[in-house]
Amino acid sequence: MELTDRINGMLDLLQQAFERQENFVSDASHELKTPLSVIAGYANLLRRWGKDDPKILDESVEAISRESENMKRIVDQLLWLAKLGNFSLNNTVFNLYEIVSDIVDGYKMTNTKHDISLSGDASVTLDTDKNLITEAVRTLVDNAIKYTPPQSGVIKINIARGADSVVISIADNGVGISEADRAHIFERFYRCDKVRGREQGSCGLGLTICKSIVEMMGGRISVESEPGKGSKFIIELF
Ligand code: ADP
Repeated sequence: MELTDRINGMLDLLQQAFERQENFVSDASHELKTPLSVIAGYANLLRRWGKDDPKILDESVEAISRESENMKRIVDQLLWLAKLGNFSLNNTVFNLYEIVSDIVDGYKMTNTKHDISLSGDASVTLDTDKNLITEAVRTLVDNAIKYTPPQSGVIKINIARGADSVVISIADNGVGISEADRAHIFERFYRCDKVRGREQGSCGLGLTICKSIVEMMGGRISVESEPGKGSKFIIELF
């Protein structure tokens, strides 16, 4: 009897894992199908009228290029997720402030519409995977930029040493996230604004990747936010 229960328990777990896998494949296919059908639609338009109508030609080329960028981003993020499944950390000791400062300088050079700044403890060092931390911080800064209107958009990154942890926070004064959405944002393919999100080239994988990275390092990621006022993402590494 006990054995039967255990076998049934195992079968349930297998079934759940199988269903998760199936859902993942179907969600990923859906995300890729949308830009593909837009590209196919514009290619069709080009074939029929694009050769004679410069306006249609311009619009189609623009849309095809935008949608292929979207597809590339989705595929890159899917590859990241797949890689993280069997990744081993490549740890080195490094100065966290310097690494984040380089990231922030990069953003300042390409983005002059937001006021992006870094503050905090310049002496903090970490012994972990530098590339993965860079990826996690970049994802959070990318989001802060994406979800903060440029006019008077302020993004503040801070590094601090807690009692038994290192804390990296990325705060913005953008659109914010409702309490209901906050419960789901770390789930795969979750977007708060389904329509605008896709137009902005988001696919709901960034925070999933970020959370996986932080958890692989034995850390924690959390969010504080007020709709209309802004959001603050906090990474704690122990
Ligand atoms: P993506 O940005 O590609 O959609 P993410 O997993 O990074 O995917 O984010 C999931 C959702 O969480 C986003 O679609 C967005 O609605 C919300 N979100 C993430 N970061 C922020 C932020 N800084 N401000 C407001 N909303 C955010």
